[in-house]
Amino acid sequence: MNIPEERFYRARVTQRVDVTRDLWTLRIWPGEHFDFTPGQFASLGLEINGKRIERPYSMVSSPAEDEVEFFLELVPGGMLTPRLYKLQPGDELLMRKLPKGKFTLQTSDSRMNHLLVSTVTGVAPFVSMIRTLAEGWREGRFNEAQRIFLLHGASRPRELGYKEELTRLAEEMPWLQYVPTISRPWDHADWQGEIGRADDILRKYADQWGLTAENTHAYLCGHPEMITNSKAILQRLGFVDRKDIKEETYWIAPKQAFAGSAGR
Ligand SMILES: Cc1cc2nc3c(=O)[nH]c(=O)nc-3n(C[C@H](O)[C@H](O)[C@H](O)COP(=O)(O)OP(=O)(O)OC[C@H]3O[C@@H](n4cnc5c(N)ncnc54)[C@H](O)[C@@H]3O)c2cc1C
Repeated sequence: MNIPEERFYRARVTQRVDVTRDLWTLRIWPGEHFDFTPGQFASLGLEINGKRIERPYSMVSSPAEDEVEFFLELVPGGMLTPRLYKLQPGDELLMRKLPKGKFTLQTSDSRMNHLLVSTVTGVAPFVSMIRTLAEGWREGRFNEAQRIFLLHGASRPRELGYKEELTRLAEEMPWLQYVPTISRPWDHADWQGEIGRADDILRKYADQWGLTAENTHAYLCGHPEMITNSKAILQRLGFVDRKDIKEETYWIAPKQAFAGSAGR
């Protein structure tokens, strides 16, 4: 389908930060303010051999920021990420003007706890939510009745993008708990935090924090296997209604690559 040019921004990269060899953040300026609800995604694209190739990416930034930030993982052999990986400040990329998605905080009912579970780049929508709530809290617009509990899993410590920012925010914000966890601790003797995958520690923290289906909404983002496992654990805890759990699966795992694929 040929999508008209006016549906896209010709955005510019303003900043690139390499987190590891295959994880990086981009800040881009679309040319005008881009409004969205924290948790939503944008479609980023490039023209490759005369064809537009687009993929969805969750915003990391809060809607109040002028630039839009993304946390990206390089997928070797992928159609788009090897090209996105080459972008440097000043380079152009396409971004759809319309944000999309319903992976947003559910604050309209009596359940005041929000359990956010993520793997690697899956923390992106949660950073956007937390940055936005933190801005509101500093300006006295956010009452602390809503409480955020974030689990973030990765293989190694350096893959935990936004760890420093989230640790600082958790120290400052009385409504935020943040637990990073790594599944390959053996090369990191200095790691003081949790060990295991995000779904391995989910039950322990749900119990410790007193999170039940009656008082909590759950949100799962990133690796498909984490999402499947976390859903099963939450279902055993009583999260059985369709509305109890929101999920954003970043890709479909080929069956045989399930156990060993990247991003956990
Ligand atoms: C709503 C939504 C939001 C997303 N947000 C982000 C985000 O914030 N950051 C981000 O990095 N990605 C995000 N993704 C994934 C992103 O859209 C692309 O799928 C990913 O960047 C790969 O694109 P590609 O064209 O390079 O690979 P493709 O050519 O599309 O895929 C090649 C193969 O790799 C598999 N694959 C795709 N991603 C991964 C991965 N991470 N690890 C292992 N295998 C993978 C695919 O299933 C496919 O089999 C999101 C996906 C969705 C649906």
